[in-house]
Amino acid sequence: MSHSIQSEHLETLSVRGGLNQDQQFGCVVPPIYLSSTYNFNDYNEPRAHDYSRRGNPSRDLVQDTLAQLEGGAGAVVTSSGMSAIHLVCTVLLKPGDLLIAPIDCYGGSYRLFDSVAKRGAFDVLFIDQNDPEQLNAIVTKKPKVVLVETPSNPLLNIVDIQKISQLAHQSGAIVVADNTFLSPALQQPLKLGADIVVHSCTKYLNGHSDVVAGTVICKDPALAMEMAWWGNNIGVTGGAFDSYLLLRGIRTLVPRIKQQEQSAMHIATFLAAHPLIETVYYPGLVTHKGHELAKAQQTGFGAMLSFELKLEESRFSEFLNHLSFFTLAESLGGVESLISHTATMTHAGMSEEARRAAGIKSNLFRLSVGLEAYEDLILDLQAALDAMAD
Ligand SMILES: *Cc1c(COP(=O)(O)O)cnc(C)c1O
Repeated sequence: MSHSIQSEHLETLSVRGGLNQDQQFGCVVPPIYLSSTYNFNDYNEPRAHDYSRRGNPSRDLVQDTLAQLEGGAGAVVTSSGMSAIHLVCTVLLKPGDLLIAPIDCYGGSYRLFDSVAKRGAFDVLFIDQNDPEQLNAIVTKKPKVVLVETPSNPLLNIVDIQKISQLAHQSGAIVVADNTFLSPALQQPLKLGADIVVHSCTKYLNGHSDVVAGTVICKDPALAMEMAWWGNNIGVTGGAFDSYLLLRGIRTLVPRIKQQEQSAMHIATFLAAHPLIETVYYPGLVTHKGHELAKAQQTGFGAMLSFELKLEESRFSEFLNHLSFFTLAESLGGVESLISHTATMTHAGMSEEARRAAGIKSNLFRLSVGLEAYEDLILDLQAALDAMAD
């Protein structure tokens, strides 16, 4: 039902995706199609849609827009980022097949791979994808799937998508990139050699912290159709209302993330100079070990950063309570700024030992920089830090 927009520019694709397609009333903005079912034209004459788990006009529009933004052949929108990742595993991995995933992947992904592998659905190997020796497993262990997630959470480690894709393809593996932290506005993994992109659309794509959704976008049309078939088969496709809101959020994706990135750069620079801050992890800083690689494969450094705070744990609460413009909450990518404490929040499921091995210290905090004036955000952090220095 949709005709695709022709443009090289993500701003245009994201703003105009799905507009002006209503034949009945000429609505500029597409309505929400909440109907779960569709009448047949006649005996044995179904229309384009028959049942909303399989296909829904609101979901179709956002899927087409997402596929265009990532440069893929097709997208499936799912009920969450986790169901998108689960869908990929269901389609690609059989018992005995190996998945290679980053040691520092998203905690929910780690738990999913670990628990499903323990039931025998497939095998999983977690490696440090920046360690050439460990990367060798892609050649020697003949994985079926290699997952990359860059920048990583919470230390913003960068891995080389192009290099890993080449290695994986030599071994006949399929490369899946979790592009949640940057969105297609700042990184396009399919153009760097990945075969599939997954997102938690809950984050930057929707951008307003009011939808939980995910997507799987495939470069190959046949694989895209297989994902859509399985998405319906196992029933993980996204709802109409969520699809509507997601498309609405995507319209402002590019200016949102660009503005947030500029603010993140200001904040990272401010924090790096503050005596109470030990280390700032932000790929936009030349001191970050992934800076050069980020510059090469990304079109921006993003708006996520983390830092180590020189403060006794007993005073963390006092510090956090001084902040007015950073809400203590998990998640990321919304218009509002958030702060989270890694060890007790996003990575609480990891043992202390595992956190130490991953380089995550107990004084690490993560910021998701929102759209507030960066001057306010810096003043807020400065006031809280200065209060701690007394
Ligand atoms: C949040 C997140 C997910 C999971 O997505 P949900 O929408 O919460 O299910 C997967 N990967 C990354 C990198 C995330 O940040």
